[in-house]
Formats: sequence, structure tokens, C-alpha cells
Amino acid sequence: MKAVVKIRPGPGNVEFVEMPEPQPGPGQVRIAVAAAGICGTDIHILREEFPSRPPVILGHEFSGRIDRLGDGVEGFALGDPVVAMPAAIRCGRCRYCLTGDVLMCERRRSIGHGVHGAFTRYVVVPAEMVHRVPAALDLRHAALAEPTAVAVHAVFERARVTAGDTVLVSGVGPIGLLVLQVVRAQGGRVLAAGTARDTRRLDLARRLGAEATVDVDAQDLVAAAREWSGGPGVDVAFECAGAPRSLDACLGALRRIGTLVQVGLMGRRIECDYEQVAMHELRVVGTYGSSLLSWPRALALLAQRLVQADPMISDVLPMTAWEEGFRKTAAQESIKVLLAPES
Ligand SMILES: [Zn+2]
Ligand SMILES: [Zn+2]
Repeated sequence: MKAVVKIRPGPGNVEFVEMPEPQPGPGQVRIAVAAAGICGTDIHILREEFPSRPPVILGHEFSGRIDRLGDGVEGFALGDPVVAMPAAIRCGRCRYCLTGDVLMCERRRSIGHGVHGAFTRYVVVPAEMVHRVPAALDLRHAALAEPTAVAVHAVFERARVTAGDTVLVSGVGPIGLLVLQVVRAQGGRVLAAGTARDTRRLDLARRLGAEATVDVDAQDLVAAAREWSGGPGVDVAFECAGAPRSLDACLGALRRIGTLVQVGLMGRRIECDYEQVAMHELRVVGTYGSSLLSWPRALALLAQRLVQADPMISDVLPMTAWEEGFRKTAAQESIKVLLAPES
């Protein structure tokens, strides 16, 4: 089968090459990929800014149908529409595995960089990471289950947004737009912020429920957030851009004793006005990926259209056009690009 593979370490080194078809071992299932989303992480892997174990098939956000069952797998049938949490390898015994925070397991390896992923025809994962897609949810839309689980983890599990909270979402990439939707589902009010390049994404943010938007290249975000909140600053700020300028604006836009939720990855050491954390008694919460518990809730939100996947999908390309998909994602010309194997 042809696959998008990081073939060796170093910048670039991603090619569309022939790989052996995987077979499921005991406790594993093989899934025929229906659609797989390109994520910012894939671009970081391409540029050697995120660790991977080449040669490895990329792709960690996907949906598909059960194609083969390994020995001992119960509860699934061939053809079932499914999605899967990427944490393919974990110890199963550490405190993080036991609490469901499996991405924190020190032995964890995920599909798409640690083990073979979904930018191909078939992917093998442990059955315990697999969730059936609800009948009300289109299989292609279900490819957004992983980033939706990331937003659920940030909004419900790491932070706690309450109805009526004023919330700044800084950064309107796919994760920011999903955080926005989950905050809306929880009854929070949203101010969304992006750059001059994000005109289309800010329009979408308003359609998805943001009360107001700010173009930070044209407006002072801190002043705008204070005014929007009625003076004191916002209750919660989600930093979803992974940019120092965005973090500084979040620190300035928060009310005293507010909560900063760090969702974006900076990829390097940065400078920021950290003094605000002590002076304003801010609560700083980090969030990374999802937990086991994030997934059923993410699927429920998608199935009930409390999170809309359709407007987030800007492109569906055949797997062979992966380079175009990566280019569009890197250039932020797209929102979410899905790759689909040719049938
Ligand atoms: Zn991702
Ligand atoms: Zn563990």
C-alpha cells in the first residue's frame, strides 16, 4: 500500500512510498482509513520540529471502518465505523495510564510519529483505543474526533468553563475553532482573536458562535478584550496560537484571578510578561492532546452538532495529493485538510 512516510530523520524526508500492509496482532484491530486530517504536528514532523521514529507512516487524526480483527478482540464487527485515540503503545500500569491520562505515560508512543499512522489505506491500533462512530455522525466528519477530543480535554477536563464565563480564544486554527465550539456548548461567551492572515477563519469563528472577533494586526487585543468583558478582563483565556505575542495578549486580557489555558505549542523557549501570573494571581493550566475520557464526549458533541465538523473541512484531497495538502496547511490557506485513500 502507498503511504505518506517520514523516511529518515532530518528536515523534509517525507515521501509517498510503498509500505507493507499491516496485520492486527492479539488485541488489535485493522481499520480501513476513510479520511485522515492533516495537523500542524504533521508540518512540524516534516520540518523536524517534532520528534518522530522514521521510517514511520504519518497521520494521527482519522476515521475508518473495521477491516480485520486480531485474536481476542470483542465488541467490534467488520465494517463498523470507528475512530481511535492515537496512543497505540503505553505501559498500562503507571498512574497516568490508570487515570486515563495516557498521553502522559512515559512509555507512550502514538500513531503518526511513534508508530505507523493513518496517511495510507490501513492502520492497526489496539482495540481498547477504538470508539464506534455514532450513527448520527458522518464518517468523514468523524475524522475530526481527535482534534475535538483535544478541545474537550482543554475545556472540560483541564480548565472548567462555566455558563456565562467570558472567554478569549487566541488563535483560530482548527484547534482554536474547536475550543471555541466546545466553550459555546458549555455556555461560555467567546471573543476570538487572529491575525490579518486569518480573515476567513475569523469569519468562520463568528459563524461558529464567537460573539466578537479581533484582528490583532489591526486592533489592540488587550484593550478590546477588556472592553468586551465590560472592564475587568476575561475569565478564561485559551492560548491556541502557540505564539509569544498571543501568550502576552492572553496574560494582559485576563481578569485578576483568571485562568490561562495553554493549548498551543511554542516549539522553543520564549519571553513573556510572566510577572502577571503572580501579580494578578492567575491560574495557569497546561493541556496536551486528550485523555481516554475526552473521546466519548467529543463524539457526543459532534453527533449532536454542538461541535460542527463540516464547516471546518476546507479540502478533501486524494492521498496522492498529500504534498498539496501539507502545503495548504503550512501556508494556513486551509482550515482542515482531509486526505482520503483512493477506493
Ligand atoms: Zn493533531
Ligand atoms: Zn503508563
